[in-house]
Formats: sequence, C-alpha cells, structure tokens
Amino acid sequence: MLIQEHVSLAALTTIKVGGPARYFIEVTTVSEACDAITFARTRNLPLFVLGGGSNLIVSDAGWPGLVLKVGVAGLEEHLLVGKAILEVGAGEDWDKVVARAVAQNCAGIECLSGIPGSVGGTPVQNVGAYGQEVAETIQGILAFDLRDNQIRELCNEACGFSYRTSIFNSTEQGRYIILRVTYELMPGGQPHVDYADLKRYFSGWQGVPTLAETRDAVRKIRASKGMLISPGDEDSRSAGSFFKNPVLSVEQYQELSARAAAKKLRIPSYPALEALRKVSAAWLVEHSGFSKGFGSGRVGISRKHALAIVNRGDATAAEIIAFQEQIQQRVEDIWGIRLKPEPVFVGF
Ligand SMILES: Cc1cc2nc3c(=O)[nH]c(=O)nc-3n(C[C@H](O)[C@H](O)[C@H](O)COP(=O)(O)OP(=O)(O)OC[C@H]3O[C@@H](n4cnc5c(N)ncnc54)[C@H](O)[C@@H]3O)c2cc1C
Repeated sequence: MLIQEHVSLAALTTIKVGGPARYFIEVTTVSEACDAITFARTRNLPLFVLGGGSNLIVSDAGWPGLVLKVGVAGLEEHLLVGKAILEVGAGEDWDKVVARAVAQNCAGIECLSGIPGSVGGTPVQNVGAYGQEVAETIQGILAFDLRDNQIRELCNEACGFSYRTSIFNSTEQGRYIILRVTYELMPGGQPHVDYADLKRYFSGWQGVPTLAETRDAVRKIRASKGMLISPGDEDSRSAGSFFKNPVLSVEQYQELSARAAAKKLRIPSYPALEALRKVSAAWLVEHSGFSKGFGSGRVGISRKHALAIVNRGDATAAEIIAFQEQIQQRVEDIWGIRLKPEPVFVGF
C-alpha cells in the first residue's frame, strides 16, 4: 500500500480547485481498504473517501487527514432469465459500464451515459439524467461499514434512494465505503426515451431507436450543454449542475407562480419535474440575471448551461463559493427560494 503525502486534490477533481491531501492512499482491494482505515484510525486522521472527483468542491486548505481513493476494479456479468446482473468494482469508470451494458444490448442505464465519475459514486447521490436514475437498477451494494468495522451487503431498499439522495449522503453520511455495486439490467429491453430533449432529438426518427442510438443521443445532447467532460471544452471544467432542482410545497409553488406572474413570466412546464413539484433551478438562475456565459473573472457560468459553475482557469475554491453565494442570494431575493448546492464540500 503506497502512502503519499501532500497530494494535490485539484488535479483529482473535474472542477480543478482545492488544496492538498495530507495523506493519500489509493486502494484496489478490500484488504487494502481495511489497511488504509487502520492507518487513519491509529493516527486519529479524519477520513475522506474519493471516487472520480466529479461532484466535489475541495477547500483551498485541502484535507487535513487521509484521502482514501477507491480504485477497486472488476466487472462480472451474469445472464439470468429475463435479467442481466452486473457486479462492478466501485473504482471502475461509470461510463465504461454504461458502454458495456449498451454493447451487450442491456437496457436500464443508457440515459446515464456521460455522467463522469466512478461506479462507487453513482449510488451516493442516486445519479440521474434524461429520465433515468441509478436507483431503478441498483440491486445491491457491498460496503465497508466504518461504524461496525465490517463488510456489509445493502439491498436497494436499505439505500434509501430518492431524488439526488441516499443514506450515503444523508442519514448515514461518512459511514460506508462502497466497494462494489450490483446492477440489474434488462437484456433486449427498450431504451427510455421519455425526456423532452431526447424526444426532440428523435422526432421524425423511423421506428424505435436502439440502446446504442439512445446512448449516442444522450452524449451528443450532454456535449452541447458542456455536461460531457471533453478535453479542450472549458465549459466542462465544472462539478456538473451546481444546484439541485428545488422541490416545493404547494404553498411555495403558488408563491413562486405569483412572483412569476407579476413579472409577466411563466414557470416552464416539464412533466418530469412537475410530477414531483420540482422547479427548474436553471430557470431560476437564468431569471435572476445569471445568463449562460455570465462572469468575467476566473469563475463564471458555463456558456452552454446555466446550472454549471465553471473554473475558467486557476480559480480558487473561495472564488467558487463566493460566486455560489452570490447566485443563491439573488435567487432568494427575487424568487423567495434558497437553492441547495449539489456538490459535496470537502475540508470547509
Ligand atoms: C460535467 C458533469 C456532468 C455531470 N452530470 C451529472 C448528471 O447528469 N447527473 C448526476 O446525478 N450527476 C452528474 N454529475 C455529478 C457527478 O458526476 C456524479 O455525482 C458522480 O456520480 C460522482 O461520482 P464520483 O466518483 O466522481 O464521486 P466524487 O465526486 O469523488 O465523490 C462524491 C461523493 O461521493 C462519495 N463517494 C465517492 N465514491 C465513494 C465510495 N466508493 N464509497 C463511499 N463514498 C463515495 C464521496 O465521499 C463524496 O461524498 C456531473 C458532474 C460533472 C462534472
């Protein structure tokens, strides 16, 4: 097990900000993970578990303890009657898993193509895009339980999945190190083409698109929004969507509609959001004066997506946070809604 010191974390995140980890260990097996935990415990070091770094804002001071990067590899596939089971090491790249599933003609995760990060990161905030969420296909999780010091199998129900939430980022935050995720997919299943952007893409299409065509469409749409990490595209130097779509009570929704009506505006209607009384955070941001491309310094809004805060080069975490707070305050002043950030804040 290689123990490194003062390792830059900025380089290990997609938004490229943040200071160093005091200690850094990448583990590739369960027994290495146990050794790394012992290392942290015997020195009383705070532990942070790192995946692909695509949903993180690391403070400029960095992390004072041990950063444990989960690099557990492996992918096993079992074909059963009417279902395909994929058991995947938490350190595998998520999009490679989607590509593999689609190549095997297995449905269930094709719309989640292009989401950066590791397999182990997917259950944490129950990643979702274009009408699919990973909670729909996760069968179970193998994790190290730091509370009881043992390896546990968690079934889907035990993970407490809902919109951008699971026990791993809420009630049991910091308790588990996810080592393996098992997905249940549908061989020969139809692609999920329900989301407005995808329907638009396929309008006029002859017949039903294949899983591969759907994955390809998702990646093209994502790239057009800077939501596909592409070398050279500085609009993808982000942590993805910076704010969650707010879920409102009936009263809050009425209040928001009244504020919009007073400005002769209508809150855009997206069936996928309305079903949950969610409002588009992007719309709120854009209608608070933060249009795409806003900002002139080292931090700004992506030119392709109003919800992505972008590091335009050598930004600090402090600058990102100041910009985040500016947006939150203006949206709250105008619309009466406090946006909640989506990324995880490390070392603040
Ligand atoms: C351009 C871009 C587009 C994005 N698009 C989407 C999108 O469409 N939908 C969406 O939901 N998200 C999206 N994201 C956010 C992000 O990609 C996902 O949340 C991703 O699953 C994070 O995984 P990660 O491995 O990078 O986790 P990290 O960023 O490394 O960590 C995130 C959190 O998960 C924890 N964690 C990571 N691995 C483990 C593990 N093995 N065990 C325990 N805890 C762990 C960390 O401690 C941290 O709390 C996007 C991000 C970017 C940069």
